[in-house]
Amino acid sequence: MRKIQMVDTKNQYLAIKPEVDQAIQEVLDSAAYINGKAVKDFAQNLATYLGSDYVIPCANGTDALQIAMMALGLEPGDEVITPSFTYIATTEVVALLKLKPVFVEVDPITFCMDVESLKKAITPKTKAIVPVHLYGQAAPMEQIMEIAKANNLYVIEDNAQAIGCDYTFSNGFTKKTGTIGHIGATSFYPSKNLGAFGDGGALFTNDKVLADKMTMIANHGQSARYYHDVVGCNSRLDSIQAAILNIKLKHLDRYNAARQKVANYYNAAFDSVEEIITPGEANYSTHVYHQYTIQLNGVDREAFITHLAAKEIPCMIYYPVPGHLQKMFGEQKNINWNLPVTDQLTTCVCSLPVHTEMDEVQLSYIVEGVKSFFK
Ligand SMILES: *Cc1c(COP(=O)(O)O)cnc(C)c1O
Repeated sequence: MRKIQMVDTKNQYLAIKPEVDQAIQEVLDSAAYINGKAVKDFAQNLATYLGSDYVIPCANGTDALQIAMMALGLEPGDEVITPSFTYIATTEVVALLKLKPVFVEVDPITFCMDVESLKKAITPKTKAIVPVHLYGQAAPMEQIMEIAKANNLYVIEDNAQAIGCDYTFSNGFTKKTGTIGHIGATSFYPSKNLGAFGDGGALFTNDKVLADKMTMIANHGQSARYYHDVVGCNSRLDSIQAAILNIKLKHLDRYNAARQKVANYYNAAFDSVEEIITPGEANYSTHVYHQYTIQLNGVDREAFITHLAAKEIPCMIYYPVPGHLQKMFGEQKNINWNLPVTDQLTTCVCSLPVHTEMDEVQLSYIVEGVKSFFK
């Protein structure tokens, strides 16, 4: 049996090596390492795939979130509502820009932003909402957009874990996640569903004014060469990464289907295990399973992890410390956030291996290994 890993980027590469190698070689031959043709092609191809008017590539997903917030012209002290149960990048950039993160709950079934908690968190200082499509499934965007509209708020979707996910509105209309809010931000970190061979990120929008602003901010606030109109940053996707992503984008739907297949296998196998709560699927969203995250019900999680480790089955806790309890939010440390669902989830979640290169031998070994803990 092939060694089990949380992700297997090596074998994923080997399966498409000739195509990828050729694309990289073309960049080397062109010597256009920055802003080469591959970058423009990729932005165009991704825009077509997503059905988004504008795609602005940048250096990573964290930069994408930061550039989005800079483009909205938020002022220090403005409040930005985000779930506490997410990767730190979502909230870190809020604090970096001297905005105030306001943490809300997630739904215990979908792990995505809880609408009631969102409604309660809105104050006259609220300017933006950042829903996260955590683990590969959409936040309840239709309701979030209605709330945003009623309160005149911007919505930035953190789509780093859900590229390719489809959201279905109550009228049956479907959109890709990341294209529903005012801005979508994503990451091409190697382990993401669409991963580069290094860092990368992108912004999506249908708003030309915002698109121009974000393009300018990502390029030193430059409007014409050496004319800098606003304070920006330097955030580029390089040509080699873009060339690789161009190839991998063609395989994205197949990759996501492979992840869904793994999830279906686990779901069927764990259905009969009382101590395991399998991930819930929302009726409004597909699930591209960036992570397959179970909840352990009345189980010693440390003992469970040790049991799996002894069988060389890796697993991860995403995330052990919620945003509202991180030391970095110093000033807010004494606020009583009261997020019981989030606190509870951090104690009981456990993500099992899910990636595009898993085979039945590995899957059945993992399932047996997991089940043997409960016997
Ligand atoms: C990966 C990730 C990011 C950040 O992406 P980087 O490319 O690593 O900067 C942001 N938000 C979420 C939810 C992520 O999973």
